[in-house]
Amino acid sequence: MIETSDIQKTYKMGAEEVRALKSVSISVNKGEYVAFMGPSGSGKSTLMNIIGCLDTPTAGTYILNEKDVSDMSENELAEIRNKEIGFVFQTFNLLPRASCLENVALPLIYAGYNKSDREDKAFIALKNVGLADRVHHKPNELSGGQRQRVAIARALVNDPSIILADEPTGNLDTKTSYSIMELFHELHQKGNTIIMVTHEDDIAHYAHRVIRLRDGLVESDEINLTPTRAVTVELDE
Ligand code: ADP
Ligand code: MG
Repeated sequence: MIETSDIQKTYKMGAEEVRALKSVSISVNKGEYVAFMGPSGSGKSTLMNIIGCLDTPTAGTYILNEKDVSDMSENELAEIRNKEIGFVFQTFNLLPRASCLENVALPLIYAGYNKSDREDKAFIALKNVGLADRVHHKPNELSGGQRQRVAIARALVNDPSIILADEPTGNLDTKTSYSIMELFHELHQKGNTIIMVTHEDDIAHYAHRVIRLRDGLVESDEINLTPTRAVTVELDE
């Protein structure tokens, strides 16, 4: 599904260059659950942005679902993003004035659905993350864990082929983090492909494969034979 070959990314800042990715070759199959780890500045977010078609590599090739996306224009990338990728961010990135339902329905506007289909799909997505009774709430009327669940519903509403989550539990307390990992576990069980960035070992341990980056290179790439299974946490924190 995802195949990067010797991808490099150099940022130019005036006369200075930062080699964020020196050479990264990885492949991820459909249905995998992968965690990217590594110290701050090792290139995790840069790699996620390229995989998520938010940015393109300076060199090397990136094949996503059998399409070479390495040199696509911004318009082409945007189209692939809308179809294939569901993003989850550390800071949730919800629209504060919009209701949960409106937030979740947003990607469906770009996908061309009419209003009533958008609302139906958004409602189902919210129901699937345990928030059927919060559809008309605004983000600031929800707890952190509930906000992240709204963001996950939004990421899933378009039925993307990959879920990309950059530090999804970075702003959550431990118990809430586990409930979000619980949800990821279920999504993985249902066949979703998930890649998440985390620097917390106990969060990474939910994934079935851990790729460590260091200085823009893959330091290790290991299967986790004993991923964390369901722990009993209450969904409503
Ligand atoms: P991580 O997510 O592992 O902390 P990043 O991918 O964010 O690492 O950053 C890798 C390196 O690239 C760092 O040295 C960072 O300062 C640099 N970098 C990241 N984004 C940019 C950017 N937009 N412009 C310039 N340098 C950047
Ligand atoms: Mg980062």
